[in-house]
Amino acid sequence: MKNLLLIASAFCYLSCTNSTSQENHTAAATETENTRDSSGSVDTNAAQQGAATSGAAGINDAAAIMGKKQVPILCYHHIKDITELPKNTAGYTVTAARFRDQLKALADSGYKTITPEQYFRYLTANAPLPAKPVMLTYDDTDEEQFTIAKPEMDKYGFKGVFYIMTISIGKPRYMSKEQIKQLSDEGHAIESHTWRHDRVDKYLTTPHIDRDSKKMVANDWDLQLVDKRKQLEDITGKQIHYFAYPFGIWSKAGIPELRSRGFKLAFQLSTKRDPEEPLYTVRRMIVAPSWSPEGMLRVMRSTFGRGV
Ligand SMILES: [Zn+2]
Repeated sequence: MKNLLLIASAFCYLSCTNSTSQENHTAAATETENTRDSSGSVDTNAAQQGAATSGAAGINDAAAIMGKKQVPILCYHHIKDITELPKNTAGYTVTAARFRDQLKALADSGYKTITPEQYFRYLTANAPLPAKPVMLTYDDTDEEQFTIAKPEMDKYGFKGVFYIMTISIGKPRYMSKEQIKQLSDEGHAIESHTWRHDRVDKYLTTPHIDRDSKKMVANDWDLQLVDKRKQLEDITGKQIHYFAYPFGIWSKAGIPELRSRGFKLAFQLSTKRDPEEPLYTVRRMIVAPSWSPEGMLRVMRSTFGRGV
């Protein structure tokens, strides 16, 4: 189990070290072009079907959703209470001091945090958002997200979104059930990041023997998302409708699997959105260790535009 978690973390590091601000900027620019070019010819059935499946009063088709201003979404993993990061640190860690400065800069600039549910209603039904909305997301269940990030968010009335990989709950250096419950009770969003952090483009959709349990499973989507979502819902007493792809890796084939299992939005990292499936390819930006607060605000604007 421990090895499994280490491997998951190592993959995380590998997958995200390429996510530089320049790439984010380039991806955003490319996406703007594509949105403009394809707005007249996208398949809108998928988004309509997604809104219908979710039960929300969705009125926007995929093209309309692609045309809406994006909310900046920041993604954090490890927040370490050390003064300086080791030289070989991958792009997944920020120091606690830098994190505090970044949140202060957001608050000083007038940003207000929103939840995935608010974003979904904005994208699908044009529900209003607060001025200068931002989403703060935390992946992989790390305990410092509770011990460092939560108190810092409390100072400003910010609410975060925690994407939990359930295999890690209660393990050393990860959050406990009680901590997750407390976050939920205090208004933070607890959402799904699978059971074992396997990338979704490798999921098997037919019965097979699982490599760890050696038991027959119906398919990996139910194994990784549905069974474990129930575990998380039992902890918080709230339903889960939002998902972050492990490593940010999504696949077109996987989107109907998510939709049919009741997920309303799925969050990737910094690749281009799919113009036919914007609800299942929502972009996020990993906050790089080296960014000053001002630099982070600049990259937010260059990546997501001037805001809502
Ligand atoms: Zn992850």
